[in-house]
Amino acid sequence: MKKELIFLGPPACGKGTQTNKLAEYLGFPHVDTGSLLRAEIASGSENGVIAKSFIDKGQLVPVKLVGTVIKHRLMKDDCKNGFILDGFPRSVEQADLFEKIRKELDRDNKVDFRAVYFDLDTEVLISRIVNRRSCPRCGEIYNLKYKSPQKDGKCDICGAALIQRKDDNEETAKARFCTYSKETAPLIDYYKNMNVLSTINAEGTIDEVWERLLKVVE
Ligand code: AMP
Repeated sequence: MKKELIFLGPPACGKGTQTNKLAEYLGFPHVDTGSLLRAEIASGSENGVIAKSFIDKGQLVPVKLVGTVIKHRLMKDDCKNGFILDGFPRSVEQADLFEKIRKELDRDNKVDFRAVYFDLDTEVLISRIVNRRSCPRCGEIYNLKYKSPQKDGKCDICGAALIQRKDDNEETAKARFCTYSKETAPLIDYYKNMNVLSTINAEGTIDEVWERLLKVVE
């Protein structure tokens, strides 16, 4: 049966690391709206220019733009047996749109659809964001406190120079938390009401969270 997994949780709750790992483990594509939007920006497209003005302020990119980007991606052949969706939906409006997109994509086929919520105390999150570094080439994520690269500033996997995302500074991080509480947190109830929500404790090491995640998605 086709598997569709979506993930909820505040910025820097560890979703990116775990969903990357899960996609590889299950053999499904990891579809991450933040990266898709950053790729639009890098391509210099009109959508990219619009997206940048919202991302730089820590605000949500307009639903129509994200919906177009995501639908286009989910229609690709590699998503036909399943996908791991990270960073979408992020508001009730997007969740409603996603239900429409899913109906179009799946018609009447049976799908195993789950939303996994990463539950984590918000106090540790700002420090995680400010210390986060990522590899622009292979997407590996590091943290200068908890998972630093072996060679300063270089990716362990592919050797590329690590970067700090432009929106990973304290001011933008705070704005992203506000956006999360206002727009995204209501989705916890949305998916609870649909009876598809699993909550995992996202505190602890990468391996500890991974064990908890496997229990709810396998
Ligand atoms: P992320 O890489 O998931 O932390 O996303 C970085 C930024 O991209 C967010 O702060 C938003 O500005 C934008 N973004 C990512 N996903 C979405 C989405 N589903 N809807 C609107 N904006 C998004």
